[in-house]
Amino acid sequence: MKPLRVGLLGLGTVGRGTFHVLRRNQEVIRRRAGRGIEIAMVGVRDVTRARALIGDAFPITNQLQEIVRNPEIDIVVELIGGYQPARELVLDAIAHDKHVVTANKALLAVHGNEIFDAARKMGVMVAFEAAVGGGIPIIKALREGLTANRIEWIAGIINGTSNFILSRMRDTGASFEAALQQAQDLGYAEADPSFDINGTDAAHKIAILSAIAFGVPIRFDAAHIEGIADLAAVDIRYAEQLGYRIKLLGITRLTPAGVELRVHPTLVPVQRLLADVEGAMNAVLVKGDAVGTTMYYGPGAGSEPTASAVVADLVDVTRMHTADPDDRVPHLAFQADSLMHLPWLPIEETLTSYYFRMRVADQPGVLADIARILADGRISIDALFQREPGEGENQTDVIMLTHEALERDVNVALQRIEALDTVLAPVIRIRQESLA
Ligand code: NAP
Repeated sequence: MKPLRVGLLGLGTVGRGTFHVLRRNQEVIRRRAGRGIEIAMVGVRDVTRARALIGDAFPITNQLQEIVRNPEIDIVVELIGGYQPARELVLDAIAHDKHVVTANKALLAVHGNEIFDAARKMGVMVAFEAAVGGGIPIIKALREGLTANRIEWIAGIINGTSNFILSRMRDTGASFEAALQQAQDLGYAEADPSFDINGTDAAHKIAILSAIAFGVPIRFDAAHIEGIADLAAVDIRYAEQLGYRIKLLGITRLTPAGVELRVHPTLVPVQRLLADVEGAMNAVLVKGDAVGTTMYYGPGAGSEPTASAVVADLVDVTRMHTADPDDRVPHLAFQADSLMHLPWLPIEETLTSYYFRMRVADQPGVLADIARILADGRISIDALFQREPGEGENQTDVIMLTHEALERDVNVALQRIEALDTVLAPVIRIRQESLA
């Protein structure tokens, strides 16, 4: 059989990795896919630079339309990133009857419903394993391996840069700014790391996982997003003393009232495997009603780890190329006509436990006032400790963990606590997940 012909858009970190893995492993890939997969054309902005990287053996163009409309090309691999021109190019490729493989989580989180709809109408595949968790086959696990289950929740460390920063803050006591600088020096963080540290990148990924898990459309706009920039080293230390690590988690949960979709720093008990996921590694926990809790761990980014997922998609597309479109695995795991429209829960309706740090005057009665307000708000304290004030200090930190409480009640209680004369700064709150 003739090899399938690939148009590769983008020759950056992932594009180069894909190029090299496809060539280096072409024989084993052919044996697995049942036919060869070859790069027919490469599209970039800077043709001279690309030629210096891969030589003259492949046609290279900066007119990306030439690739997506080329009748000789079977599969377009989109690895340029961002929303534009990626969206136009992907839709154009689909309109020209091509399958698409992409690693672009931002694109799918925001325009995925439109893209999958267009692909379904054309009977082509859009594969996106590399968009979540880099080299970890989490999409495959959710769409296929766990297909017997009702998924109850997913919680994941799905941004390597922020995890690296949190690990450094804990290991070295560094401030957020110093740890970010180290991440940039080591090449983990991009020149503009805002999507990594403000939680947007993790939210893109958990929005995609949520849709696949629960059979709902992708709703990135419904996500509650908090990043790590405001985390203080002192909270990481106190959390450690209480038996927790702070991780930036993407969490989605199906409750009787609707779907939770959130990204925020989270206290994770140290005895959970997830607490041990350090540095730039990623891990995703999935709770299914039949299987229980499963965990997927590995490199969440990087040139060849991400290429591993891109090439796996290429093999899948090649294997299913001649299958009836109705017999293929649906894009979002559920048949398109059976997606459900469930309510998306605002963060105020989340039921979770909390860590609070309160800066208070060191005088009698303070704790009693705080405890009364929490009790009024149906918030019960699970653990509490007060730092001994230093010599000559007249203020101190009170740290507490709560049992589960409704975020709306917590907001009201913290407002009342912050209005007390004896509470000297806004209360620091970090959510806590048992992941049981
Ligand atoms: P990158 O290193 O910045 O490379 C982007 C490539 O796309 C470059 O070759 C660039 O060409 C080309 N490009 C960008 N805009 C273009 C345009 N308008 N027209 C033509 N070519 C254009 O990006 P990357 O890190 O490989 O990421 C690619 C995708 O994979 C993104 O969606 C990213 O989110 C996703 N991803 C990345 C990783 C990772 O570890 N890096 C992991 C998982 C997923 P020039 O160099 O000529 O400008």
